[in-house]
Amino acid sequence: MEIKFVKADTLKAKPEPSTLGFGKIFSDYMFMMDWNKETGWHDARIVPFANLSIHPASTVLHYGSEIFEGLKAYRRADGKVQLFRPIENIRRMNNSAERLCLPQIPEDMALEIYTKFVETEKDWTPDQEGTSLYLRPFMFGNDESLGVHAVHNATFIIIASPVGSYYKEGINPVKIMIEDEDVRAVRGGTGYAKCGGNYAASNRAGERAEQKGYSQVLWLDGVERKYIEEVGAMNVMFKINGEIVTPKLTGSILPGITRKSCIEVLKKEGYNVSERLLSLEELTSAMADGTLEEAWGCGTAAVVSPIGELCYKDHKYTVNGGKIGPVTQHLYDTLTGIQWGKIEDSFGWTVPID
Ligand SMILES: *Cc1c(COP(=O)(O)O)cnc(C)c1O
Repeated sequence: MEIKFVKADTLKAKPEPSTLGFGKIFSDYMFMMDWNKETGWHDARIVPFANLSIHPASTVLHYGSEIFEGLKAYRRADGKVQLFRPIENIRRMNNSAERLCLPQIPEDMALEIYTKFVETEKDWTPDQEGTSLYLRPFMFGNDESLGVHAVHNATFIIIASPVGSYYKEGINPVKIMIEDEDVRAVRGGTGYAKCGGNYAASNRAGERAEQKGYSQVLWLDGVERKYIEEVGAMNVMFKINGEIVTPKLTGSILPGITRKSCIEVLKKEGYNVSERLLSLEELTSAMADGTLEEAWGCGTAAVVSPIGELCYKDHKYTVNGGKIGPVTQHLYDTLTGIQWGKIEDSFGWTVPID
């Protein structure tokens, strides 16, 4: 495909790697292309990073037609840059698009876009321990009218942000509050789609948990508030009496690529891994009788995030003495080892850019 390149007049100075946070600094360029019902995708271009000009009646501003992805480009020990399972992000975005009546991007076209864009911006991939270039592909409905219907116009953009290490002060287990009022998603809704609206609906519970000194909430299912679903914006896994348990994908859970990778690593190594329903009752009794051995969240940003304390209705339970457990640590070491090119990628998950 043809991607037009519009050169920036000046390039920004690269930030000092130790000052990087998450998603505050952006690279010199962004990828953009537009879609309409008549011509499909057109005007693929890499242009200087800049504000967008958008019609005040644009669909996304009123009806929330927006989906996104999150993945990282990693600087390997040998200096090369690579992506981790980008095809999974591409497929998931198409599934999200299908749910929100946004257009599909053919897989080979999307992969070409991702790689060409990262090639353009690869100098922005920092090389300090734990850092990476975070890529945020997103798509939104962009009709210039207030009528409610599947859109006739859409825009797809990728922006890139160098991000710092998630674990600057070491991997510290987090405190999680079990949320039994708000729900994140319901079956038949948009839980499995990575869409902005899911986040808008989660913020209130997140804020309340933070006020009480917890870093995230553990979500329960939206129908019975009986089964465990996710933790904050991450998937969740437990080790209960030797069994690794993660909630099965029932439609209201986001199918995380880190979740999938953890399952594949553990299964290959012979662990007993189950994707099944896990009730709050089963979890609280495992906490009470000490058979809950480990708990962790998993997602692209943190890779894994150990859970050191769970709180349900003012009952506090400590997990693994508030320390990271051996399986959680092993997953962290294995996945980050593959991502940063420190250990061999026997799964064929990495896609080198240069
Ligand atoms: C993105 C996301 C995840 C994690 O997915 P990864 O592909 O592992 O980054 C989990 N839950 C929610 C709600 C998400 O948006």
